[in-house]
Amino acid sequence: MGSDSVSILTGNENKPTPISTKEEDELPNSSSTALLSFSTDFSNSPPKPVTSSVLFISLVLSASIALAAAIAFGFLFFTSSSSASSLKSDSTGVISRSLSKLKTPVVLLISSDGFRFGYQFKTDTPNIDRLIKNGTEAELGLIPVFPTLTFPNHYSIVTGLYPAYHGIINNYFSDPLTGDQFNMASHEPKWWLGEPLWETVVNHGLKASTYFWPGSEVNKGTWNCPKDYCMFYNGSVPFEERVDTVLNYFDLPSDEIPSFMTLYFEDPDHQGHKVGPDDPQITEAVVEIDKLIGRLIRGLEERGVFEDVNIIMVGDHGMVGTCDKKLIFLDDLVKWIEIPKEWVQSYSPLLAIRPPPGYSPKDIVAKMNEGLKSGNVKNGEYLRIYLKEELPSRLHYSASDRIPPIIGLIEEGFKVEQKRSKRQECGGAHGYDNAFFSMRTIFIAHGPQFARGRKVPSFENIQIYNLVTSILNIEGAPNNGTMSFAKNILLPSH
Ligand SMILES: [Zn+2]
Repeated sequence: MGSDSVSILTGNENKPTPISTKEEDELPNSSSTALLSFSTDFSNSPPKPVTSSVLFISLVLSASIALAAAIAFGFLFFTSSSSASSLKSDSTGVISRSLSKLKTPVVLLISSDGFRFGYQFKTDTPNIDRLIKNGTEAELGLIPVFPTLTFPNHYSIVTGLYPAYHGIINNYFSDPLTGDQFNMASHEPKWWLGEPLWETVVNHGLKASTYFWPGSEVNKGTWNCPKDYCMFYNGSVPFEERVDTVLNYFDLPSDEIPSFMTLYFEDPDHQGHKVGPDDPQITEAVVEIDKLIGRLIRGLEERGVFEDVNIIMVGDHGMVGTCDKKLIFLDDLVKWIEIPKEWVQSYSPLLAIRPPPGYSPKDIVAKMNEGLKSGNVKNGEYLRIYLKEELPSRLHYSASDRIPPIIGLIEEGFKVEQKRSKRQECGGAHGYDNAFFSMRTIFIAHGPQFARGRKVPSFENIQIYNLVTSILNIEGAPNNGTMSFAKNILLPSH
């Protein structure tokens, strides 16, 4: 338990401790995200956190990985510097386009849940393609935060904070200090740290609207989820109705049009869980999402504002197939250590364990890893257990008391369960290490502040907060993103 986490959870809940991350001192375009964006292209094996994973594998394997890493770093050295310069040269001589009808900038942030990067290649998506062709795209996708789950990621997108700092560290968790349980219907402000974009926007005297977004119903600071501008979550509202409601905001007098709007669709995450990412049902869902984007574009064009609106279309995470034999059972570890189910806060894909007081997390980690590496636990080699403080630092997943002390990283597509059962199911899941390419989602941005037809390297979604505040020309709250990133992505103002 680090005392740093206590200060975050017990301090002024509306003002998170400003966080400086190492990345800020590195290249403006963040070599760490470049590492993620390029390292996964070398093979289908999981990206290796170079220093820590070497401890776990045999000498032979580690030698080959070290070689691969060396090549990757060499490659990186060139790609990160060349992508940084191509970013700059792309934007020189081009400035943001002036608004034709709107008086002030508007950002429409759209989330298509579980839209794995690459789904757009499954089928014809003429409307999404139009945004890509005339806008700016993360060429190899947007990198979610860890854990690659819906609530942590949506809230990172709108706060610019890693989950340890915005407090939503999982879709379900408990507060160790009070014992209170968080779930996806928890709207008490105490859970939701940081300053989400709707609050920042309202703080600056502008209007914001939310058509669903995790955290948007929470009354926090100046944001009181105003009727007509803040929809309470109801998954049964047809997607078309959501689009039309957003379009209607553009019919308001100009000073009443929200400067920042959110729009959320549950698909194709919904289908991805049921059938996995490679089923024709996903293709159908992607076609439907594309039609909704078409409906939106048409509506904006009819109102003469399509070229005026900054549309940012993202997903929260990707999806990977999970099936029958890829299971690891905690009860198989009983020869080394017994892990009662009461200790386990979540199993898959984020294994999170909080033993009761009196037990040493360090000993538990050592014994679990001993069993997993013994060769006598089925699929044991696909699970590694860490003290949260010893997780790879690129995951930024330790600085909160809400994060249980013991975290397991699971190989892509595998699942952890307590005990064997007859249940055999195939489907899809997400929540794994954010370095897996399958966890990536999309970033597509179109509008006056985005260059046309531009590709940028992959980046983490915590950068989006600053992107939005830069477009709206307002000062944001402290966060984990960098201002240099927004400057590099956006066209300079005229
Ligand atoms: Zn999901």
